[in-house]
Amino acid sequence: MQEIRYELTKTPKTKPAPGDPLPFGSIFTDHMFVMDYTEGTGWHDPRIVPYAPLQLDPAAMVLHYAQESFEGMKAYRTPDGSIQLFRPEKNAARFKSTHERMCMPVVPEEDFVAAIKALVKVEKDWVPTQAGESLYIRPFCIATEAHLGVKPAETYQFIIICCPVAAYYKTGLNPVKIYVEDKYVRATPGGTGYIKCGGNYAASLISQETAEALGYSQTLWLDGVERKYVEEVGSMNCFFKIDGTVYTAPTVGTVLPGITRMSCIELLKKWGYKVSVDRLPIADVMKAGKEGKLEEVFGTGTAAVISPVGELRYEGEVAKINNGKTGKLTQKLYDTLTGIQWGKLPDDMGWTTKVC
Ligand SMILES: *Cc1c(COP(=O)(O)O)cnc(C)c1O
Repeated sequence: MQEIRYELTKTPKTKPAPGDPLPFGSIFTDHMFVMDYTEGTGWHDPRIVPYAPLQLDPAAMVLHYAQESFEGMKAYRTPDGSIQLFRPEKNAARFKSTHERMCMPVVPEEDFVAAIKALVKVEKDWVPTQAGESLYIRPFCIATEAHLGVKPAETYQFIIICCPVAAYYKTGLNPVKIYVEDKYVRATPGGTGYIKCGGNYAASLISQETAEALGYSQTLWLDGVERKYVEEVGSMNCFFKIDGTVYTAPTVGTVLPGITRMSCIELLKKWGYKVSVDRLPIADVMKAGKEGKLEEVFGTGTAAVISPVGELRYEGEVAKINNGKTGKLTQKLYDTLTGIQWGKLPDDMGWTTKVC
């Protein structure tokens, strides 16, 4: 990557004061990272500039054919005041695989991480200091070429924006109720379920509406072929502890390979749990629920880290999990992961990277 050019704002915004509410994804920092791609030239002109609306041609291909990618990660403030990232090289690798699937030019992994670090350094005073708060980082890339007609674009912008976010749980882990979707599907083999592109989310909104109308907060997706096997929840991967074994869906093309998921599997194996990364029929989950063997269910993702599930509804039938309370293993995973991320526990897995 060329040297980053810095154009810092002369009118910084007022930062939220410690303790101010930080509604997720609605307060943005002073700057953004931008880098352009032009076919023939490659990536060029990396810069950190004041946060501002983009100028896009109305024919920009992203607006018509959804050639778009994104990532999600956080910067955490540690007890000694320094700032660290959690496995950023995994986000870089996943961004690369997204770009390969979307026929978009790959951002070299070391440039991806260097850009994140440079922006977080500039915005270091935006990284909140209160327990559980963090700076959410949203790297994304869009096709900017002005052209109607379906083909991979010849110009792109890679952009990174940040927002300070509150602790996901203010009063301890709070189990959510999940609706199992039996009509719509999120991903099919050969499709884009394993990458982070906005189109996946656009197609999922209709199920979210159904779930909410029934009093559930998110959707658990089943496989797109038979609607028989559990895949993932909304923007989280999903784990089921049944009769001592922990199950999670394999990421074989229809399930997003979450970095929180990967970290949970590594921790569970280290702790000696039996982990089955294999297809699990929803019928087995509901049966285990009836027999009292469905011990714990939780979702994993960067935003919430670990989200306990207290209830599942499938085809009108309801399974209560652990009396709607957070399970022991769910809590232990949450405490361990957040302990490492916020630098309160020793990072013996080597997962964190210091920014400044
Ligand atoms: C981002 C995402 C996840 C979680 O991934 P993490 O790397 O753990 O944040 C899970 N499922 C979907 C569909 C996602 O987009």
